Amino acid sequence: MQYWLFVHPLLSRVHRCSERGKTRPVAADPSCSRACCALAAGYFYTEWVTDSSATPLSPSPADFSFDVEHRLETGGAIGRTGAPLGRAGTIHTPHGDIQTPAFIPVGTKATVKSLLPETVGQLGGQAVLANAYHLFLQPGSDIVDEAGGFGKFMNWHGPTFTDSGGFQVMSLGVGFKKVISMSEKTHAEAEVIAKTKERLAHVDEDGVTFKSFINGDKHRFTPEISMQIQHQLGADIMFAFDELTTLLDSRAYQEDSVERTERWAVRCLDEHARQTADRQHRPYQALFGVVQGAQYEDLRRRAASGLAGLRGATATEQEFDGFGIGGAIEKTELGEIVGWVCDELPENKPRHLLGISEPDDLFFGIAAGADTFDCVAPSRQARGGTMYSSSGRINAKAATQRRRFEALDPECDCYTCENYTAAYLHHLFKAKEMLGSTLATIHNERFIVRLVDQIRQSIIDGTFVELREEVLTKQYGADFAREAAARYSA
Ligand SMILES: [Zn+2]
Repeated sequence: MQYWLFVHPLLSRVHRCSERGKTRPVAADPSCSRACCALAAGYFYTEWVTDSSATPLSPSPADFSFDVEHRLETGGAIGRTGAPLGRAGTIHTPHGDIQTPAFIPVGTKATVKSLLPETVGQLGGQAVLANAYHLFLQPGSDIVDEAGGFGKFMNWHGPTFTDSGGFQVMSLGVGFKKVISMSEKTHAEAEVIAKTKERLAHVDEDGVTFKSFINGDKHRFTPEISMQIQHQLGADIMFAFDELTTLLDSRAYQEDSVERTERWAVRCLDEHARQTADRQHRPYQALFGVVQGAQYEDLRRRAASGLAGLRGATATEQEFDGFGIGGAIEKTELGEIVGWVCDELPENKPRHLLGISEPDDLFFGIAAGADTFDCVAPSRQARGGTMYSSSGRINAKAATQRRRFEALDPECDCYTCENYTAAYLHHLFKAKEMLGSTLATIHNERFIVRLVDQIRQSIIDGTFVELREEVLTKQYGADFAREAAARYSA
């Protein structure tokens, strides 16, 4: 690694900095015997030197790649070319591989709540997704940068994701789908809906101004700021800063928003290229463009094909390394919408479906071509005592669990189910013991991670349709499973 050495011989002080342009004093190196200290008396002397303990990494988009290894031959959506959209593959990142499809546990503030990072790995989590907005506010992305990125900060050594902060900036604390205020006068409906609550986020052409949910301080996110923050957070996979719309927004507003998100995407690509060039000491961080367009097929397709062909304006002509699928999606339309988007996206780049973890949504998303997923629901529901099981939801606090001296889900292979009874979990929740949250989270995260792993294996084995019928029947009943099968029978 190259360090910027700032040597003042008279003081015999050495200031090192891991980033050009900043001075960050550290203790003088007592083993330094450089001639400059003896020769250049009386004035400041600066030079680049190479520290043999860490060489420049020369980060490049070539450090990130995706291989499609198997296709979902039956039971999935078919693209316009006649090829199936669903697939299984491997994402290669500087911190390791992710076998897809994969569910990515969420560690919003650089911790998967109540779990040790080792536990996340033991339950099969292949990567962790943290939140740019939360870490920017607390402890500050500069501190995470100094720690070596959020993975190193939290002692997680596998691949990492950060979201752009757009969703949280525009939705958190203001009631998603209800009170997001757009500044344009054309956006009358949202203004009406918003008037009863304080608006914490305002969107304009350049970015978003918002108030901190922690202390009410005013902040501003632009595409450039989001990229700078995400580079400091150091995740292997980052997301472009996009505008979040809601199902309540008018068609005209959705059109404007898709165009604005594309303009923001170019700015993200350019800032990403600048940051990559400036931060030679860090591994390459991949950037995913985020496809919006709500429930409209033409908007979704236009947004996806637009981002797929986008190139940055800088010399490197940076393009997106993968894509996120975001925004307001009605559950019943999820498979269809994801299918439109994936049909437009390049085959050789991964696709992440943001904020999804329900078993039926996972089947429909994968069948339509999504590769990775994240969601806070498994851990959030676990902390409230709502548990997934192979036969549907179980409330760990329910009286029916009080004397149930068997595993919460006898078919589950998680640490909790192998070592504890439903009755003990019930007791922990009733007594408000911390261990209840930990054991419940281990189970729920394992359940969803394992389900997606099973779906991956079923794509490889050619048994996707059978697995879908079995799981959806147990989770939601035979009628639901039949209806699901009918959706992809054409
Ligand atoms: Zn379990």
